[in-house]
Amino acid sequence: MIRTAYLSGVALATLVACTTVTPTQVTVDQYVDDARRIAGEDLKFLMPVCSPQPAVRAVPSAAMDESLSKLINQPPPAPGQAFDNLYYVGSAWVSAWVLKTSEGLILIDALNNTNEAADLIEGGMRRLGLDPAQIRYVLVTHGHGDHYGGAQMIAERYRARVVASEIDWKMMETGLEFDSKMWDRPPKRDIAVHDGETLTLGDTTVRFMITPGHTLGTISPVFDVRDGGRVHKAMIWGGTSFNFGRDMGRLDGYIAQTERMRELSAKWGIDVPLSNHPGFDGTVAKLKARAAGTSVTHPFVSGQPVVDRAMRVLNTCARAQRARFLIMAQAGAGDVYASGSDPQGHATSHDEDDDHIHAGMLALGAGNDAQPIAFPVNVFAAANVGTHLGRR
Ligand SMILES: [Zn+2]
Repeated sequence: MIRTAYLSGVALATLVACTTVTPTQVTVDQYVDDARRIAGEDLKFLMPVCSPQPAVRAVPSAAMDESLSKLINQPPPAPGQAFDNLYYVGSAWVSAWVLKTSEGLILIDALNNTNEAADLIEGGMRRLGLDPAQIRYVLVTHGHGDHYGGAQMIAERYRARVVASEIDWKMMETGLEFDSKMWDRPPKRDIAVHDGETLTLGDTTVRFMITPGHTLGTISPVFDVRDGGRVHKAMIWGGTSFNFGRDMGRLDGYIAQTERMRELSAKWGIDVPLSNHPGFDGTVAKLKARAAGTSVTHPFVSGQPVVDRAMRVLNTCARAQRARFLIMAQAGAGDVYASGSDPQGHATSHDEDDDHIHAGMLALGAGNDAQPIAFPVNVFAAANVGTHLGRR
């Protein structure tokens, strides 16, 4: 009797396992619907993360340079102040934040190249009454050119130290995941940080949380921001989109990290969710609202429950993308996890690619100052035109 019950249990477990590892389009749709429901109106700028992503990572090409140049050349928003100690000097596409401390400035990300860093970071800082010569550290949130491009120039000009994760320093030194002539070369290796380590400058401490997924060494920095007498806790999500191709390890990492940071954000009381792309946190609209001073609540202080929901939206979108890749595997592309270590991912035959290209064109055509594109959500699909998508 006991034995029978045991066997039934095994049979049931096997059945359950089978049904959970073979998702269908219904599974994907369910995840996307869940994400949309969790996002609601206030976080709908995160929903592009739920769009289907290509199975192959973009390779350097003229089309990619062209796409990047369009993104870079959008009219920039005015620089602005988000908190007493936090300023925005980024572009319409990529963020650059300046954290002011009692003993100098910490620049968080350095845009695509020297020219852009000179125009927007140095120029924007001067407009805001900040002296670039006070920059002590440049934090590179992850090793993609849209975040490190201007870092070496800033480091050399102001004798600033450059901080990145050990993992992404290695990537920047030994093999870039993406490259483009629009980007300056990566900065020279300087300070390498690991998960949970902190940097204190004067009255301010930044905690570096390594949240692998977007890159293997993405840093999501956590620090205090001040508004008059009030202190809030901010986190910049350091890498958002799934632009790594069919790499299941990355997606699993992303799912784990959004769960971890969801728990930690509750524990630490993180109530200011920020991004390193203005389209993913509504930076420009929030800066305008703060400058206008008309809203009763601080536009950047979304509250802890919103941070929680943001992590859940990203988590659910990652699950949707994982299900899409599992469906591809089911359709004959082989063991989807076998491709996890392949830096290019395994190309697969899939008619969704037309959708990617279409979505990419739509995204590029939007052209407003806060479009929700992060490098390179749907942007580089055009680079796959004419590429034979077959299993290697
Ligand atoms: Zn990136």
